[in-house]
Order: sequence, then C-alpha cells, then structure tokens
Amino acid sequence: MALQLRPNCEYCDKDLPPATTEARICSYECTFCADCVETKLFNVCPNCGGGFAPRPIRPMREWRAGVCAVKQVPSDKRVHLKYAVEEVTAYVAGVKDVAPEQR
Ligand SMILES: [Zn+2]
Ligand SMILES: [Zn+2]
Repeated sequence: MALQLRPNCEYCDKDLPPATTEARICSYECTFCADCVETKLFNVCPNCGGGFAPRPIRPMREWRAGVCAVKQVPSDKRVHLKYAVEEVTAYVAGVKDVAPEQR
C-alpha cells in the first residue's frame, strides 16, 4: 500500500502538491499544511489525536522499475475537516500537552 499523497490541507484547504515540503501527515495519513499543524493544531491530529511527521516525497522518475509518482499516481480527492473549527480547537486543547509518544 502506497500513501495516497492527498492534494490539500484538511484545515485551510491549501494545495499540497506531491513534491511540497509543507505537507504533514499522521499515521492514518490525515494531511495538513505545516502552518496549520504548528499554529492551529499544535501537533494534534483532529481526527485521531496522534502527532504529525513531514510527508515523504515520492520520486517523479522511475529510479526503480514500477515505483514512482507516475506509476502510483497521487490522489486528486480533496479532503475537508469533518468537525467544526470550534470543536477542533477544544479537542486539541485537551490533547496537546500529552507528548505524542505517550498518547
Ligand atoms: Zn492548512
Ligand atoms: Zn490522524
């Protein structure tokens, strides 16, 4: 299973193209921009409560046969937050002080 490489930030809807260094993902691949993770979510995924890591960049060139962004095409399905912003703010406040390794 390859990452979907989702095209946008769930929170602010900013475009996050496959080669950007701004994309952050949780272990379920909930996808946000670095700015939202730092200033809105405080490293708390609003869907699962886990922390984030930078999304790896899939190579465009087929350096190895069959594996590249041309063979496993990035998702074009935009995903949007399924909770209200106020709910997310309250949720994040309740989780952010617990280190990701201890959640
Ligand atoms: Zn964002
Ligand atoms: Zn998540």
